[in-house]
Amino acid sequence: MASSINIPSVALPREVSIPQVGLGVFQVPPEETTENVLHAIEAGYRHIDTARAYSNEAEVGQAIRASGLHRSEFFITTKCYNEDHGYDRATRALKKSLGRLEMEHVDLYLIHWPMPSEDRYVETWRALVDAQQAGLARAIGVSNFQSEHLRRIIDETGVTPAVNQIELHPYLQQPALRREHADRGIVTQAWSPLAQGMVLDDPAIASIAQKHGKTAAQVVLRWHIALDNVVFPKSVTVERIRENIDIFDFELSTEELARIEAVDRGERIGPHPDKLALNPPISRRRRIRSSIAARTRLRRLRQRVAARRRGQ
Ligand code: NAD
Repeated sequence: MASSINIPSVALPREVSIPQVGLGVFQVPPEETTENVLHAIEAGYRHIDTARAYSNEAEVGQAIRASGLHRSEFFITTKCYNEDHGYDRATRALKKSLGRLEMEHVDLYLIHWPMPSEDRYVETWRALVDAQQAGLARAIGVSNFQSEHLRRIIDETGVTPAVNQIELHPYLQQPALRREHADRGIVTQAWSPLAQGMVLDDPAIASIAQKHGKTAAQVVLRWHIALDNVVFPKSVTVERIRENIDIFDFELSTEELARIEAVDRGERIGPHPDKLALNPPISRRRRIRSSIAARTRLRRLRQRVAARRRGQ
Protein backbone atom coordinates (compact mmCIF):
# COMPACT_ATOMS: atom_id res chain seq x y z
CA MET A 1 0.00 0.00 0.00
CA ALA A 2 1.89 3.05 -1.18
CA SER A 3 0.90 6.58 -2.01
CA SER A 4 2.62 9.49 -3.67
CA ILE A 5 -0.01 12.03 -2.55
CA ASN A 6 1.12 14.32 0.19
CA ILE A 7 -1.94 15.29 2.21
CA PRO A 8 -1.50 18.31 4.51
CA SER A 9 -2.20 17.87 8.20
CA VAL A 10 -3.98 20.18 10.62
CA ALA A 11 -2.70 20.51 14.19
CA LEU A 12 -4.94 19.51 17.12
CA PRO A 13 -4.07 19.97 20.81
CA ARG A 14 -1.53 17.66 22.54
CA GLU A 15 0.64 17.33 19.43
CA VAL A 16 -1.97 15.33 17.56
CA SER A 17 -2.33 16.09 13.86
CA ILE A 18 -5.13 15.12 11.50
CA PRO A 19 -4.86 14.61 7.72
CA GLN A 20 -6.98 17.34 6.14
CA VAL A 21 -8.67 14.89 3.74
CA GLY A 22 -10.11 11.54 4.76
CA LEU A 23 -12.81 9.07 3.75
CA GLY A 24 -16.31 9.17 5.26
CA VAL A 25 -18.18 5.87 5.50
CA PHE A 26 -21.70 7.06 6.37
CA GLN A 27 -24.24 4.88 4.48
CA VAL A 28 -21.57 2.45 3.29
CA PRO A 29 -23.09 -0.99 3.94
CA PRO A 30 -20.96 -3.08 6.36
CA GLU A 31 -20.39 -5.78 3.73
CA GLU A 32 -18.82 -3.17 1.41
CA THR A 33 -16.90 -1.19 3.99
CA THR A 34 -13.65 -3.19 4.28
CA GLU A 35 -13.12 -3.13 0.51
CA ASN A 36 -14.10 0.54 0.32
CA VAL A 37 -11.59 1.52 3.00
CA LEU A 38 -8.87 -0.65 1.42
CA HIS A 39 -9.40 1.13 -1.93
CA ALA A 40 -9.02 4.45 -0.13
CA ILE A 41 -5.85 3.32 1.65
CA GLU A 42 -4.43 2.19 -1.69
CA ALA A 43 -5.21 5.66 -3.09
CA GLY A 44 -3.32 7.31 -0.21
CA TYR A 45 -6.00 8.00 2.43
CA ARG A 46 -4.96 7.54 6.05
CA HIS A 47 -7.92 9.19 7.79
CA ILE A 48 -11.29 7.41 8.14
CA ASP A 49 -14.44 8.91 9.66
CA THR A 50 -16.92 6.35 11.02
CA ALA A 51 -19.47 6.28 13.85
CA ARG A 52 -21.30 3.76 15.97
CA ALA A 53 -24.45 4.83 14.13
CA TYR A 54 -22.98 3.81 10.74
CA SER A 55 -22.81 0.12 11.86
CA ASN A 56 -19.48 -0.41 10.09
CA GLU A 57 -16.82 0.20 12.78
CA ALA A 58 -15.82 -3.50 12.80
CA GLU A 59 -15.28 -3.46 9.03
CA VAL A 60 -13.20 -0.27 9.23
CA GLY A 61 -10.99 -2.01 11.83
CA GLN A 62 -10.67 -5.05 9.55
CA ALA A 63 -9.49 -2.88 6.67
CA ILE A 64 -6.87 -1.18 8.81
CA ARG A 65 -5.47 -4.56 9.90
CA ALA A 66 -5.69 -5.99 6.36
CA SER A 67 -3.74 -3.01 4.93
CA GLY A 68 -0.52 -4.33 6.42
CA LEU A 69 0.35 -0.80 7.59
CA HIS A 70 1.02 0.04 11.21
CA ARG A 71 -1.96 1.32 13.22
CA SER A 72 0.00 4.52 13.96
CA GLU A 73 -0.14 5.47 10.25
CA PHE A 74 -3.90 6.00 10.52
CA PHE A 75 -6.24 8.59 11.95
CA ILE A 76 -9.51 6.93 12.99
CA THR A 77 -12.55 8.87 14.18
CA THR A 78 -15.71 7.43 15.69
CA LYS A 79 -18.64 8.96 17.54
CA CYS A 80 -20.84 8.55 20.60
CA TYR A 81 -24.43 8.22 19.39
CA ASN A 82 -27.57 9.85 20.65
CA GLU A 83 -28.83 7.07 22.96
CA ASP A 84 -25.42 6.97 24.65
CA HIS A 85 -25.48 10.40 26.28
CA GLY A 86 -24.66 10.57 30.00
CA TYR A 87 -21.35 9.88 31.76
CA ASP A 88 -21.61 6.09 32.25
CA ARG A 89 -23.30 5.29 28.95
CA ALA A 90 -20.80 7.38 26.95
CA THR A 91 -17.87 5.71 28.74
CA ARG A 92 -19.31 2.27 27.91
CA ALA A 93 -20.11 3.33 24.33
CA LEU A 94 -16.47 4.25 23.63
CA LYS A 95 -15.26 0.94 25.04
CA LYS A 96 -17.77 -0.93 22.84
CA SER A 97 -16.65 1.04 19.76
CA LEU A 98 -13.03 0.16 20.55
CA GLY A 99 -14.08 -3.49 20.87
CA ARG A 100 -15.73 -3.43 17.44
CA LEU A 101 -12.77 -1.61 15.87
CA GLU A 102 -10.41 -3.98 17.73
CA MET A 103 -8.26 -1.00 18.68
CA GLU A 104 -6.80 0.21 21.96
CA HIS A 105 -7.59 3.83 21.20
CA VAL A 106 -9.23 6.01 18.56
CA ASP A 107 -7.52 9.12 17.27
CA LEU A 108 -10.64 11.22 17.68
CA TYR A 109 -13.85 10.55 19.61
CA LEU A 110 -16.82 12.86 19.06
CA ILE A 111 -20.24 13.47 20.58
CA HIS A 112 -22.32 12.87 17.43
CA TRP A 113 -25.19 15.32 18.19
CA PRO A 114 -25.77 17.58 21.22
CA MET A 115 -29.38 16.40 21.71
CA PRO A 116 -30.34 19.53 23.68
CA SER A 117 -33.79 18.03 24.41
CA GLU A 118 -31.98 15.43 26.59
CA ASP A 119 -29.73 18.08 28.17
CA ARG A 120 -26.96 15.62 29.06
CA TYR A 121 -24.23 16.73 26.67
CA VAL A 122 -22.17 18.36 29.44
CA GLU A 123 -21.89 15.08 31.41
CA THR A 124 -21.23 13.24 28.15
CA TRP A 125 -18.41 15.70 27.48
CA ARG A 126 -16.96 15.00 30.95
CA ALA A 127 -16.88 11.29 30.03
CA LEU A 128 -14.90 12.11 26.88
CA VAL A 129 -12.48 14.30 28.87
CA ASP A 130 -11.81 11.39 31.26
CA ALA A 131 -11.55 8.87 28.39
CA GLN A 132 -8.86 11.01 26.81
CA GLN A 133 -6.98 11.13 30.14
CA ALA A 134 -7.24 7.33 30.27
CA GLY A 135 -5.63 7.09 26.80
CA LEU A 136 -8.71 5.75 25.00
CA ALA A 137 -8.87 8.71 22.58
CA ARG A 138 -5.92 10.82 21.44
CA ALA A 139 -8.22 13.77 20.74
CA ILE A 140 -11.83 14.53 21.65
CA GLY A 141 -14.39 16.78 20.04
CA VAL A 142 -18.01 17.34 19.20
CA SER A 143 -20.29 17.29 16.18
CA ASN A 144 -23.31 19.38 15.27
CA PHE A 145 -22.75 21.68 18.27
CA GLN A 146 -24.22 25.16 18.01
CA SER A 147 -22.65 28.20 19.63
CA GLU A 148 -24.64 27.78 22.87
CA HIS A 149 -23.65 24.10 23.23
CA LEU A 150 -19.97 24.94 22.74
CA ARG A 151 -20.17 27.73 25.30
CA ARG A 152 -21.73 25.44 27.91
CA ILE A 153 -19.28 22.55 27.67
CA ILE A 154 -16.31 24.92 27.71
CA ASP A 155 -17.63 27.03 30.61
CA GLU A 156 -18.70 24.03 32.69
CA THR A 157 -15.65 21.78 32.18
CA GLY A 158 -12.86 24.18 31.18
CA VAL A 159 -12.02 21.85 28.26
CA THR A 160 -12.36 23.07 24.67
CA PRO A 161 -13.19 20.44 22.02
CA ALA A 162 -10.44 19.91 19.46
CA VAL A 163 -12.96 19.91 16.59
CA ASN A 164 -16.60 20.57 15.80
CA GLN A 165 -17.86 18.45 12.90
CA ILE A 166 -20.72 20.32 11.24
CA GLU A 167 -22.70 20.22 8.02
CA LEU A 168 -20.78 22.55 5.72
CA HIS A 169 -20.69 22.92 1.93
CA PRO A 170 -21.10 25.75 -0.59
CA TYR A 171 -24.89 25.86 0.01
CA LEU A 172 -24.45 25.98 3.84
CA GLN A 173 -21.25 27.88 4.61
CA GLN A 174 -21.88 28.59 8.32
CA PRO A 175 -19.71 31.75 8.49
CA ALA A 176 -20.66 32.71 12.08
CA LEU A 177 -19.95 29.26 13.54
CA ARG A 178 -16.65 29.05 11.60
CA ARG A 179 -15.62 32.42 13.04
CA GLU A 180 -16.46 31.20 16.54
CA HIS A 181 -14.38 28.05 15.97
CA ALA A 182 -11.43 30.20 14.86
CA ASP A 183 -11.80 32.46 17.93
CA ARG A 184 -11.90 29.45 20.29
CA GLY A 185 -9.13 27.47 18.53
CA ILE A 186 -11.52 24.71 17.40
CA VAL A 187 -10.82 22.97 14.07
CA THR A 188 -13.81 22.92 11.69
CA GLN A 189 -14.64 19.55 10.17
CA ALA A 190 -17.10 19.75 7.26
CA TRP A 191 -19.58 16.88 6.94
CA SER A 192 -21.32 16.28 3.62
CA PRO A 193 -18.59 18.48 2.09
CA LEU A 194 -20.09 17.90 -1.39
CA ALA A 195 -23.67 18.36 -0.11
CA GLN A 196 -24.08 14.69 -1.12
CA GLY A 197 -23.48 15.73 -4.73
CA MET A 198 -26.09 18.51 -4.77
CA VAL A 199 -23.61 21.37 -5.33
CA LEU A 200 -21.84 19.68 -8.23
CA ASP A 201 -24.17 21.07 -10.91
CA ASP A 202 -23.90 24.63 -9.65
CA PRO A 203 -23.03 26.84 -12.67
CA ALA A 204 -20.44 28.95 -10.79
CA ILE A 205 -18.64 25.83 -9.52
CA ALA A 206 -18.86 24.10 -12.92
CA SER A 207 -17.30 27.08 -14.71
CA ILE A 208 -14.40 27.29 -12.19
CA ALA A 209 -13.86 23.53 -12.64
CA GLN A 210 -13.73 23.89 -16.40
CA LYS A 211 -11.15 26.66 -16.17
CA HIS A 212 -8.82 24.51 -14.03
CA GLY A 213 -9.41 21.26 -15.95
CA LYS A 214 -10.67 19.74 -12.68
CA THR A 215 -14.05 18.27 -11.69
CA ALA A 216 -16.68 20.18 -9.72
CA ALA A 217 -16.07 17.83 -6.74
CA GLN A 218 -12.36 18.69 -6.79
CA VAL A 219 -13.14 22.43 -6.87
CA VAL A 220 -15.51 22.14 -3.90
CA LEU A 221 -12.97 20.11 -1.91
CA ARG A 222 -10.20 22.58 -2.79
CA TRP A 223 -12.47 25.41 -1.55
CA HIS A 224 -12.80 23.57 1.79
CA ILE A 225 -9.00 23.26 1.99
CA ALA A 226 -8.65 27.02 1.37
CA LEU A 227 -11.03 27.61 4.32
CA ASP A 228 -8.86 25.32 6.52
CA ASN A 229 -11.71 22.82 6.88
CA VAL A 230 -11.01 19.13 7.44
CA VAL A 231 -13.05 17.00 4.98
CA PHE A 232 -13.90 13.31 4.46
CA PRO A 233 -16.01 12.96 1.32
CA LYS A 234 -17.74 9.62 0.93
CA SER A 235 -17.46 7.57 -2.23
CA VAL A 236 -17.61 3.87 -3.01
CA THR A 237 -16.32 4.36 -6.56
CA VAL A 238 -12.59 3.81 -6.97
CA GLU A 239 -12.17 6.62 -9.55
CA ARG A 240 -13.99 9.12 -7.34
CA ILE A 241 -12.03 8.03 -4.26
CA ARG A 242 -8.84 8.86 -6.20
CA GLU A 243 -10.31 12.05 -7.64
CA ASN A 244 -11.34 13.39 -4.22
CA ILE A 245 -7.78 13.29 -2.94
CA ASP A 246 -6.17 14.62 -6.11
CA ILE A 247 -6.73 18.26 -5.23
CA PHE A 248 -3.30 19.55 -4.33
CA ASP A 249 -1.99 20.46 -7.79
CA PHE A 250 -4.10 23.62 -8.24
CA GLU A 251 -5.31 26.60 -6.21
CA LEU A 252 -8.38 28.79 -6.31
CA SER A 253 -7.90 32.54 -6.78
CA THR A 254 -9.39 35.10 -4.39
CA GLU A 255 -11.97 35.94 -7.06
CA GLU A 256 -12.94 32.26 -7.45
CA LEU A 257 -13.25 31.85 -3.68
CA ALA A 258 -15.53 34.91 -3.63
CA ARG A 259 -17.70 33.42 -6.41
CA ILE A 260 -18.16 30.24 -4.37
CA GLU A 261 -18.88 32.29 -1.23
CA ALA A 262 -21.70 33.97 -3.18
CA VAL A 263 -23.60 30.70 -3.81
CA ASP A 264 -24.38 30.17 -0.09
CA ARG A 265 -28.12 29.61 0.48
CA GLY A 266 -28.06 28.63 4.15
CA GLU A 267 -29.63 25.34 3.02
CA ARG A 268 -29.31 22.20 5.16
CA ILE A 269 -29.44 18.58 4.01
CA GLY A 270 -29.48 17.14 7.53
CA PRO A 271 -31.61 18.01 10.57
CA HIS A 272 -31.11 21.20 12.55
CA PRO A 273 -29.05 20.24 15.65
CA ASP A 274 -31.51 22.01 17.97
CA LYS A 275 -34.46 20.04 16.60
CA LEU A 276 -33.09 16.49 16.55
CA ALA A 277 -34.76 14.52 19.36
CA LEU A 278 -34.29 10.96 20.54
CA ASN A 279 -37.96 10.08 20.23
CA PRO A 280 -40.78 12.19 18.90
CA PRO A 281 -42.50 13.84 21.88
CA ILE A 282 -45.55 11.83 22.92
CA SER A 283 -48.59 13.21 24.64
CA ARG A 284 -49.13 12.70 28.40
CA ARG A 285 -52.24 10.62 27.66
CA ARG A 286 -50.31 8.31 25.27
CA ARG A 287 -47.49 7.99 27.79
CA ILE A 288 -49.96 6.94 30.54
CA ARG A 289 -51.75 4.54 28.14
CA SER A 290 -48.50 2.90 27.05
CA SER A 291 -47.25 2.56 30.63
CA ILE A 292 -50.57 0.90 31.66
CA ALA A 293 -50.19 -1.49 28.69
CA ALA A 294 -46.60 -2.29 29.71
CA ARG A 295 -47.68 -2.99 33.33
CA THR A 296 -50.49 -5.28 32.07
CA ARG A 297 -48.03 -7.20 29.84
CA LEU A 298 -45.66 -7.60 32.79
CA ARG A 299 -48.46 -8.81 35.11
CA ARG A 300 -49.57 -11.42 32.53
CA LEU A 301 -45.97 -12.57 32.04
CA ARG A 302 -45.56 -13.01 35.81
CA GLN A 303 -48.83 -14.98 35.97
CA ARG A 304 -47.64 -17.29 33.13
CA VAL A 305 -44.27 -17.88 34.84
CA ALA A 306 -45.98 -18.60 38.20
CA ALA A 307 -48.41 -21.00 36.49
CA ARG A 308 -45.51 -22.86 34.81
CA ARG A 309 -43.74 -23.14 38.20
CA ARG A 310 -46.89 -24.68 39.71
CA GLY A 311 -46.77 -27.21 36.85
CA GLN A 312 -50.02 -26.10 35.25
P1 NAD B 1 -20.68 13.88 0.75
O1 NAD B 1 -20.90 15.36 0.64
O2 NAD B 1 -19.33 13.35 1.04
O3 NAD B 1 -21.26 13.27 -0.57
C1 NAD B 1 -21.11 11.91 -0.88
C2 NAD B 1 -21.81 11.65 -2.23
O4 NAD B 1 -21.31 12.56 -3.22
C3 NAD B 1 -21.49 10.25 -2.75
O5 NAD B 1 -22.44 9.31 -2.28
C4 NAD B 1 -21.56 10.45 -4.24
O6 NAD B 1 -22.89 10.35 -4.66
C5 NAD B 1 -21.09 11.88 -4.43
N1 NAD B 1 -19.67 11.98 -4.79
C6 NAD B 1 -18.59 11.72 -4.00
N2 NAD B 1 -17.46 11.97 -4.69
C7 NAD B 1 -17.83 12.41 -5.90
C8 NAD B 1 -17.11 12.82 -7.05
N3 NAD B 1 -15.78 12.85 -7.09
N4 NAD B 1 -17.83 13.19 -8.14
C9 NAD B 1 -19.18 13.17 -8.15
N5 NAD B 1 -19.90 12.81 -7.09
C10 NAD B 1 -19.25 12.42 -5.98
O7 NAD B 1 -21.78 13.35 1.81
P2 NAD B 1 -21.80 12.45 3.12
O8 NAD B 1 -21.45 11.06 2.88
O9 NAD B 1 -23.12 12.74 3.75
O10 NAD B 1 -20.69 13.13 4.06
C11 NAD B 1 -19.36 12.70 4.12
C12 NAD B 1 -19.03 12.13 5.47
O11 NAD B 1 -19.33 13.05 6.52
C13 NAD B 1 -19.86 10.90 5.84
O12 NAD B 1 -19.48 9.74 5.14
C14 NAD B 1 -19.63 10.86 7.33
O13 NAD B 1 -18.36 10.29 7.60
C15 NAD B 1 -19.68 12.34 7.69
N6 NAD B 1 -21.02 12.77 8.16
C16 NAD B 1 -21.13 13.15 9.46
C17 NAD B 1 -22.36 13.56 9.95
C18 NAD B 1 -22.48 14.01 11.38
O14 NAD B 1 -23.61 14.21 11.86
N7 NAD B 1 -21.39 14.17 12.09
C19 NAD B 1 -23.50 13.58 9.12
C20 NAD B 1 -23.35 13.16 7.80
C21 NAD B 1 -22.10 12.78 7.32
